[in-house]
Amino acid sequence: MLENMAGVGESMETPGSQTSLHRANLERVVRAVRMAGSLTQAEIARSTGLSAATVSNIVRELKEGGTVEVTPTSAGGRRARSVSLSGDAGIVIGVDFGHTHLRVAIGNLAHQVLAEESEPLDVDASSAHGFGRAEQLVNRLVETTGIAPGKVIGVGLGVPGPIDVESGTLGSTSILPGWTGINPGQELAGRLGVPVYVDNDANLGALGELVWGAGRGVKDLAYIKVASGVGAGLVIDGHIYRGPGGTAGEIGHITLDESGPVCRCGNRGCLETFAAARYVLPLLRPSHGADLTMDRVVQLAREGDPGCRRVIGDVGRHIGSGVANLCNLLNPSRVVLGGSLAEAGELVLGPIRDSVSRYAIPSAARQLSVLPGALGGRAEVLGALALVLSEMGDSTLLESTLPTASPAFT
Ligand SMILES: [Zn+2]
Repeated sequence: MLENMAGVGESMETPGSQTSLHRANLERVVRAVRMAGSLTQAEIARSTGLSAATVSNIVRELKEGGTVEVTPTSAGGRRARSVSLSGDAGIVIGVDFGHTHLRVAIGNLAHQVLAEESEPLDVDASSAHGFGRAEQLVNRLVETTGIAPGKVIGVGLGVPGPIDVESGTLGSTSILPGWTGINPGQELAGRLGVPVYVDNDANLGALGELVWGAGRGVKDLAYIKVASGVGAGLVIDGHIYRGPGGTAGEIGHITLDESGPVCRCGNRGCLETFAAARYVLPLLRPSHGADLTMDRVVQLAREGDPGCRRVIGDVGRHIGSGVANLCNLLNPSRVVLGGSLAEAGELVLGPIRDSVSRYAIPSAARQLSVLPGALGGRAEVLGALALVLSEMGDSTLLESTLPTASPAFT
C-alpha cells in the first residue's frame, strides 16, 4: 500500500512533473475566473502569466469537462471569447447579519445573483432567534428558486463584529451582547449542513465592492464602513488582509486627539468619537429632535440643512485623516466609502479628499481615488457570496475535468 502510494506520488504528483504542472495551470485559470466572474482568454493570460496557447488549451479542456462556459464577446472592437465558470457547477449563498436586518442572497459560480431578500431583525437580542430566521429564509429562497439543495457548495456569513481567528467566536462581546460565546460559523453549518465561511461586515463590504461594485479592476483597496462604529476592510494584492488575530482594519481607533472624548475602547479621541453615529448624533439632537438618525442627517444635508451639512463635512474631514494614515501605510489605489453615509456624495467625499491631500504623502495621495460604494446595503451580502468564491478551493470545480485527481496528493 505504502509502496503503491509512493509510486503514484512520484509518477503523478511530484512537484515539477508534467501532471502536477498541468493541474497547477488548471487551478490558476479557474482561480482567475472564479474571482473575476468572466475574463477573455487574453485577460486570463495576463493575470495568470500563462502563454496564450496554454490558456487556449486549458480553457478547451475545462469547457469539455463542464467547469467553464465560453461565450463570444468583443474586447477593444475585436472578437474575443469570454470565459466564466459554468452556472450549473454550483450554488453559493450569502447571509448577512446587520444590527437591524438579515439579508440573504443566492448566486451561482458565474457571478449571477439568482435571488435576494432582506427582513428587519434585532440581531443583538438573541443569536438563536437570528440563526433560526436565517435558516428559514435560506430554505425558502432555495425552494422558490428551484435549486437542488445538493448543488449548494458553501455559505458565506457576515456578522457585525470582529471574529477571533483562532476560536471562530465573536471577539468583542460589547458589540453583540446576545452573541457571547457563540461560534457563528459552526452554528449555521449545523443548521444548513454545508460549509460556512465567516467574516466581519467591513471585510465582506470590501469583497462585495471588489467583485461587483466600485472596486472592480483594482487589487489594492480599502472599504470604509461608518455605522455604529468605523471599520475598514483591507484588500491587498487581491486578498482580504485580516492579520493573525482578525483585527486588521480597525481604523476607527486611530487617535486623532489625545485629549478628545473617551472612546468605547477606553482610549481618548479615536476617529470613531468624531465620526460614528453615537458620537455625532448628540451634536444635532438639541436642534433637530431626539429621534434623529444618521440616515435622516444625510437626507437633510442633501436638502441643504446647514447644521447637517456642517456635521457631515466634519465627519468627512475626520475620516479623511484616518484614510491619510492608511494611505501612508498601505498605498491603496482606491478607497470606497460604504454604508448610508456614502449617500451624502460629495458632501462627505470632498472633505475626505481634502484631508487626504493635506495629510497623506503626496505620492500616495496622487494615486488614490475615493469613491462612494456602488452596492449600498447589498455590499455585505454580495461580499458573503464572494467570500465563498474566494475560500472554496478548486478541487470541487476540477472534479469534472480531472475525474482521477486524488485529493490525497493535492
Ligand atoms: Zn477607540
